Amino acid sequence: MIVEDESSIASFVALYLKNAGYAVRAVGKGTDALDQISSDPPSLVILDLMLPDIDGIEVCRRIRKSSDVPILMLTARDEDVDKIIGLEVGADDYMTKPFNPRELVARVKSILRRSTPERRQAESAVIRHGDLTVDAGRREVRVGEEEIQLAPKEFDLLWELLDHRGLVLTRDQLLERVWGYTFAGDTRTVDVHVRQLRRKLGEASPIVTVWGVGYKVSPAKNPTPA
Ligand code: CA
Repeated sequence: MIVEDESSIASFVALYLKNAGYAVRAVGKGTDALDQISSDPPSLVILDLMLPDIDGIEVCRRIRKSSDVPILMLTARDEDVDKIIGLEVGADDYMTKPFNPRELVARVKSILRRSTPERRQAESAVIRHGDLTVDAGRREVRVGEEEIQLAPKEFDLLWELLDHRGLVLTRDQLLERVWGYTFAGDTRTVDVHVRQLRRKLGEASPIVTVWGVGYKVSPAKNPTPA
């Protein structure tokens, strides 16, 4: 379901999703979206932030009161992003306008794959690695007792690497698993996210560069005594 009042954007997004094999419906108002989500729930909602009646953030909050349907938010401003993805609002992912429609389709695929039941079960797990604790159900990362705020893709990337401890994952494999690309994409995205993870996790970062190949997770050191 697409919730967007600008019909040119709505039909453009619908076209790409239909071409990718999805059944699509579009509504232009937040109230219509809420009505339809309760009467005939979609598998995923693409929700624009700027709507003529209730804004997208409020629509998202109201959906979350009764539904876990995956939500991909569209926004025109980077500064809204923290709020959107934060637990308070509860969107699954976001894209900033203007966006590449192919990337939108890739995100939709990736979100739907993550939210399938067996995957969800696998993700209700916690991985401990040295000082690092990653809780997939709560999407929380801690170094010792301190909670570290990660962007959604940073979290997914860290999880993917930890979930394959001991294996080297190539940049293309990471792009496919974390970003949902099925083609060889721009692998610099992976490097940028790894850099962010290293910055945020500091010495607790377990990520090792395997030169010319990709990344892996180093063996865990013993947790530092508190
Ligand atoms: Ca709009």
